[in-house]
Amino acid sequence: MSKPQIELIKNAGIVGAGGAGFPTYIKYGAKVDTFIINAAECEPLIDVDKILIQNYFEKVYEGIKTASELLEAKRVVLALKAKYKSAIEVIEQFKKKNNINDFEIYKMDNFYPAGDEQVLVYEITGKIVPEGGIPLMVGVVVSNVETLFNVANALKNIPVTEKFVTVNGQVKFPQTIIVPVGTPINVILDYCGLDKSKDFKVLDGGPMMGKLIDETDYAVKKTTKSILVLPSDNIVIIQKLRSKANQVKRAQAICLSCRMCTDLCPRYLLGHSLFPDELMKKMYKGTLNDDELERFSFSYLCCDCGVCELFSCPVDLSPRSLLNYIKEKLAQLKVKNPHTRKDLNVNEFREYRKVPVNRLISRLNIEEYDVKTELKQFDAKIDFVKLYLTQHIGAKSIPIVNVGDKVVAGQIIAKIPEDKIGSNIHSSIDGVVKEISNDYIIVEKS
Ligand code: SF4
Ligand code: SF4
Repeated sequence: MSKPQIELIKNAGIVGAGGAGFPTYIKYGAKVDTFIINAAECEPLIDVDKILIQNYFEKVYEGIKTASELLEAKRVVLALKAKYKSAIEVIEQFKKKNNINDFEIYKMDNFYPAGDEQVLVYEITGKIVPEGGIPLMVGVVVSNVETLFNVANALKNIPVTEKFVTVNGQVKFPQTIIVPVGTPINVILDYCGLDKSKDFKVLDGGPMMGKLIDETDYAVKKTTKSILVLPSDNIVIIQKLRSKANQVKRAQAICLSCRMCTDLCPRYLLGHSLFPDELMKKMYKGTLNDDELERFSFSYLCCDCGVCELFSCPVDLSPRSLLNYIKEKLAQLKVKNPHTRKDLNVNEFREYRKVPVNRLISRLNIEEYDVKTELKQFDAKIDFVKLYLTQHIGAKSIPIVNVGDKVVAGQIIAKIPEDKIGSNIHSSIDGVVKEISNDYIIVEKS
């Protein structure tokens, strides 16, 4: 029978707040040697983790304690960058004042992707997660700071209805705000003074791993950490808008076979058999037929970090996008990832090939947006929230309300399907259910 805290975490709808949204109640059902709290925040232009530590560390610590006990972790490590001096000072003061020694602080260099789970695991434990594997396979669980904040809330029966979001880029007032989950993005952009003087595009996430969104239609998810507005002519946007056909044509015309995309790939440097240059060279020499796809099944090992596409390649080719394309094709052909090697050795040059964040910022041409944001009260008027039924890894949640029902903030409106992994969804405002579609529930404010 699961522990009461796990039930509370499950009921509260907690999913990994810093990444793909893996349901937390599943993660904390394991027993581990090491529990890592991920506050590395390696994507440029995001401040959520630092702000949470600086303003709410007591609550974050409650979450750390609960998670460490559930996981029976022998070692608990809070990892953040050494340059986050104010956050480190808050933690050190807290430890000193309360005489706490049940977790360590691990200070990382300022490189990208320092917050990648597998990179963190290697940096802290010296263990390499097997190809295609997860940290649990080497006795480690990793959780984001905001997830632990949510765990502390869950212990008081407070579900996930709010999200910390850094809004940055082409806005007059870059800031970090706490918004109801489901808040329409255009409300947030108006509030932060969207600068429409130049054509722009909007990302859910940072410049490296963020996804392009339609700001007129999209709403904040439990995994949204950043809303980033960039000019349409920024390289990040140009790369994301390139069609597959265009990416293939460019690879055929200009790949230099220089191998930089492989040499700087963080997963290749951890010893994984991931060789984006081989795919690009193949593209350069001609087209890729379906019967040759399996040769490039190493695409399954790509973590989508974007280093090859936005930093390494001297001629702005798109290895990541083409690897994703291969992954999709292989999945359609029902080819599973055959790469599961465990006998891995870290590349001898790994230390010298880490991507410095300041150089990354300059390469992405986003220096003007590299400002430290402050936590601000979000008091814009919201007419409705749009709550997606899939904002996590696992099965789509099943609505348990009907159009016209009155709901209150914190009430469950969609549940995890029976015998499946997933997440409960709660209304984030008091209101009336206005619409239920296949993908979302709209709650209109009373
Ligand atoms: S996106 Fe590129 S650099 Fe990152 S893991 Fe994938 S292949 Fe490697
Ligand atoms: S870094 Fe760019 S040019 Fe060099 S091999 Fe990779 S895709 Fe080709």
